Order: sequence, then C-alpha cells, then structure tokens
Amino acid sequence: MSHSSDVTHDLLPARMLNEFVYCPRLFYYEHVEGVFLHNADTKKGASEHRRVDGGKGELPKSKKAGGSTDKADSDSNVADASEGEPAPVQDQASPTAPDLASEVIHARSVMLGSETLGVVAKLDLIEVTVEGDTGTSPGGVRSVCPVEYKTGAPREGESGNSLWDPDRMQLGLQILLLRENGYSCSEGVVYYRQTRQRVRFELTPDDEDWIRRSIVSARICAGGPIPPPLDHSPKCPRCSLSPVCMPDETHFLHQMAPDDELPAAELQLALPGLGDGALALDDSRVAQLADSFSTDDAVWEQLPEPRLPRPAIEGEVRRLVAPDVDTKVLYVNTPGVSVTKKGETVVVKEKGEAISEFRIKDLHHVAIFGSAQISTALIQTLCEAEIPVSYFSMGGWFYGLTRGHGLTNVFTRIKQFARAAEPQHSLILARLFIYGKIRNQRTLLMRNHVEPPPLALRALKYAQSAALSAPSHATLLGIEGAAALVYFRNFHGMIKAGHDDDEIPGLEDDESERQLGTQALFRFDFKTRSRRPPRDPVNALLSLAYSLLSRDCTVAALAVGFDPYIGLYHRPRHGRPALALDVMEEFRPLISDSAVLSAINTRMLGPSDFVQAGDAVNLTPLGRRRFFQAYEKRMSDTITHPLFDYKVSYRRAIELQFRLLARTLTGEIERYLPFTTR
Ligand code: SF4
Repeated sequence: MSHSSDVTHDLLPARMLNEFVYCPRLFYYEHVEGVFLHNADTKKGASEHRRVDGGKGELPKSKKAGGSTDKADSDSNVADASEGEPAPVQDQASPTAPDLASEVIHARSVMLGSETLGVVAKLDLIEVTVEGDTGTSPGGVRSVCPVEYKTGAPREGESGNSLWDPDRMQLGLQILLLRENGYSCSEGVVYYRQTRQRVRFELTPDDEDWIRRSIVSARICAGGPIPPPLDHSPKCPRCSLSPVCMPDETHFLHQMAPDDELPAAELQLALPGLGDGALALDDSRVAQLADSFSTDDAVWEQLPEPRLPRPAIEGEVRRLVAPDVDTKVLYVNTPGVSVTKKGETVVVKEKGEAISEFRIKDLHHVAIFGSAQISTALIQTLCEAEIPVSYFSMGGWFYGLTRGHGLTNVFTRIKQFARAAEPQHSLILARLFIYGKIRNQRTLLMRNHVEPPPLALRALKYAQSAALSAPSHATLLGIEGAAALVYFRNFHGMIKAGHDDDEIPGLEDDESERQLGTQALFRFDFKTRSRRPPRDPVNALLSLAYSLLSRDCTVAALAVGFDPYIGLYHRPRHGRPALALDVMEEFRPLISDSAVLSAINTRMLGPSDFVQAGDAVNLTPLGRRRFFQAYEKRMSDTITHPLFDYKVSYRRAIELQFRLLARTLTGEIERYLPFTTR
C-alpha cells in the first residue's frame, strides 16, 4: 500500500479501468497510445467536474492509520492535493443529507493509490462520518463513502436504478482504495446529473473479484497489440474517439471479400520505354513513355484491370465521423501587417490600426504569407488550442508550420519508419498512391474537358494499370511523369474562360491582340506545366494550390500521428513533407486542379489578378485572396465517400485517408485503398 505520489507513475489510473470496461480499444488508445479527444459529452463532463475539482485533496486520517481525526488536520494520508477552497459541507447538488447522529464532513479531489491493487485514483468527493471522543471510546473517522458525479442517467435495471459497468468499476475501485488506505468503507454513491438521482452501490465479493480480474486483464491488454474495434456497438456513437478509431470502417475494410480488392500488383512487365525499370527522369524518355501509353501495343493487354471494392451498403458503415468542421482558415496575406491576441480574439493590425478581428474559437488554422508578424502570445494560445499556424513565402512556397503537442501516439510513426526502410514494401503503397492520382486525373478530364480526348483517356488508363505493376520506385516515377505529361497536354481543354466571355477553346485571338499598353494581358492559355517559376497564370494557380494542399496534408499527417517528412514514395529531402506529398497525390486533381479550374471557369479570377515579375507570373494580393476562397470552398465541398458511402468534406476525406494508411501499416486492414471518385 502506498500513499505517496512517487509511485503513482507505475499505477493504472482508475479512470483508465472505466475505459477498459467500456471498451478495451478505447483504453488502449488513451492509456497506451496517449490519444485523447473531446466530444460534446466529455466537454460537458469536464466542465461539470470543475466544481467538484476545487477541493484541497485532504482527508482526515483513518483510525487504522492511528492519527488524530481532527477534520482540519492537514497532515493526512494523501498522495496529491489539488488547489482550491474547501467545499461547503452541504449544498443543493450534494447527493446526501447530513446524518444528524454524527457529523459528516466532505473531502474533495482526494488522490489515493495502492500498490497492492496497482491502481491510483482521484476521488471527486468523499463523505466522511466523524464521531467525537465519548470518554469510553476515542473519536475518529467512523466510515467513509465515496461519491462520484456523472453527467448522464442511471441504468434502468430490473430492480430499479443501478450503475453502468464503467461506473461500477470506478466506484468499486474507490471503495477498495479507501479500504487499502485503512478506512472503513462498504458502499459508494453515484449522483447522475441528468436525472438528478443518486444510486447507492454496495461492493459485493463478486464485484471485488470482477474488479481484480479486470485490472489483470487491462495490464495484459496494455502489453499487447491494440484490441479490435467493437462490432457495430451502440457505444461507438457516444465514444469521443470514434473519429480516430473508425470502428465500422475498419470492420468493413477488414472483412472485404478478396475478389473485391485491388489485384495484387506483382506483375513485372517489360514496359515499353522502361527497360530494366531503372528509368532516370529524363524528359525525352518520359515523353517516349507517354506516347507509348496510347499505342495498341499488345503488352498493355497484360496489365491488370483494377477493380475497386464495392462501396458500403446502407447501415454497413455508420457515419461516426463529423461531416466537416464549421471553423475557418485565417489567411494573412498583406505584407507588413501584425497579428496579435486580444482576449479570445485574433487582431490583425496595419500600421498600428486594427483592420480585422476573429474569434479564436472560429478558426482551425492560421496561414501567414510573406512578412506578416505574429506575436508569441498568439502562437502560444494557438498551440494550446491545437490550431496550427503555417508559413508561406509571398509567392506561395510552404516553409513549415507551428503546432501544439497534439497526439503523443508514437506507434504509427514506428510502423511508418519500418515500412519506409523497406523499399519493396513501401513500393506496394507507392503504386497505389500513383494509381489513385492517375485515375483521378483521368476522371477529371472526362468530366471537365470540352471534348474528352479518347487517346489521352486510353493512355491514362494504361498508365494507371502500369502504375500498379511498377517493379521499382524509379519505374513508378517514370510512369507518373508520363501520365502527368499526357494529362497536362490536355489540361487546357478543361479551361473554359478566355478574356472574352464568348471565347470558345481553340478559337482564341491572335497573339498580337494580347498586348494592352506595355502590360501583357494575361490569358488562361495553359500549354505545359512550369513550376519554378510559374510562367503563366494557370501555372501560378496550380503551384499555389499544390502548396496549400501540401500544407493541409502535412497537418492531417501530424494529426494522425505520422512524421510527415518520412515518405513511402517521395524520398526524404530537406524541408519536404514527403509522406504528406505521397497521400496528396490522390487529391491533387480532385482538390487543387479542381479549385484552379473552378476559379478560372467561374471568372472568380481574371487577368487583372496576376502580375509579371521577370519570368515569373504571380497573383496580386487581391487575386490570392480570391483564390484562397476558391480553395477553401473546394476543401469544404462534401462528397459521398467512395468506400463508406457517407458524406464527408474533402478536408475530412484527407484525414480519413491518412487514418486508413495508418491502419494498413499497423496491419489492422490488409490493403490501402486509394481515394478515387467514381
Ligand atoms: S469507437 Fe467504439 S470500438 Fe472504437 S474505441 Fe470507441 S467504443 Fe471502442
């Protein structure tokens, strides 16, 4: 038995045993992986608990411990004490009335541990019945009764209200801990706030046996692999970790019939133009390969025809993931402004004058472009609130981001590093990232091209199959490059806006008409992808869109517990979030390219939103602001998830994709499935 705080780090917190009884997987996430998320229920519980958390943590010594029973005695057998004023002896919310035959005092926030049990707990409230010295018997603590406060309602049992199992575990443990610490305690009380009812609980030998066995089971569980999710349990919708756990999604993908899966991509084809597979990124070889994709060479017939699994049928996968966040990204895009904190708001100032204010709770991200200043006080607050801050150059180069401690889970990273160290294993995933990207590029062309070009569509179909068969990273790189060449050669057909509203693609004006004074009038006549620098408005938009998407993928990778800089397809390079770029491949056409096309085709952006600087074309500050709107709108657009058949925003879809990747690495699901629209 121990009361001192120096042993508590080896002891299981009692509340973790509640979680274990609720769901062993929840226990594993919180206790082993250190993952914790609030939902509405836990937030409510936490705020209601603040009232009872205010005690000093003092408890009069027990008779067995041999000390005085002075209720003001502060030299008590307490492991820890929280700050705050002593609680009133009786208040309206208190579940008991004072016993007139003896004096009842209350102790709050009392920490007790037991090495025998291997458990430590903080007890909300203990009712202590004290009797004075009668002359014939010494006074002292006669008995104690722990009282727990719960947000919900009691369980309706056959013979009246009773405790839910997690509550029974918690209160039972408290009774055992009090006994271990020398107090006489036979029962406890749970006060359910929703119905304002108290339920008394008497610890039986069977309960005690169940509690002791559960402690052993929880310790065994903590030392093993993560338990599987519950199967369509009614507990999951109320569980704060359901967006992390994804119970139905994991079951669905785990039970997928083998012939619903993508084919095993183990074909080692002699791909035209690839030779031994060690393709260097030589433009002419990439072009040669791109051309060969559209031929009828018989070799292509051997490529696998991928078949995606069927989507979930109604009810098979419940939507436990929130459809979208209703908070916004704050883009700070004006050179020289300062961004500071005032109370619970972010204030943007220009030349000392406040030009805009935003409530911190309305934001989920702050993006700083160029030389804007952000105060340390604000960064600290944003870190605490888990709101990341990303930094870009004025031209849109993504430097990096600042964030809070976030999840402490290291297991995903351990698996990630192990997989990244095995090129043949990481190749299996890399093929799927690129397969997804090419497939989505093809879908975008089919949906948006003014006259979808059959040869290009066929070439992309070959390319996506070839990606699944790539025998090496280098070959895959070549296939990706060749597919990109085919795609961007036809990208202009998706742009349906010139400088004239009536302009028809292919019937644009002469070059001579493009001069307006000394400033060239920009047009959206995209020819080829140019990156550094972007040489035309479409390339400027694409570069910015990819930069924003890589930022969002980096944030999602971190939220799931990955190291975004260790890639499975992209090689590590200083300052490159390689894993974020891996998963981003699938989303490039769907989010970035679509946002660019939408901004141009809806005339959200016009020629006056761009400026020429040397070889480079950049957006004006106003143009950038308009594009941020187009990009954020795309991220918030909801789609039906291709596998799970529920609505999610693209922002959520990215996070889900990282979670599926994590599941694949930990072996919970067998195969990663790229995100593709149908
Ligand atoms: S969502 Fe369900 S399976 Fe997952 S941790 Fe919560 S209760 Fe357990």
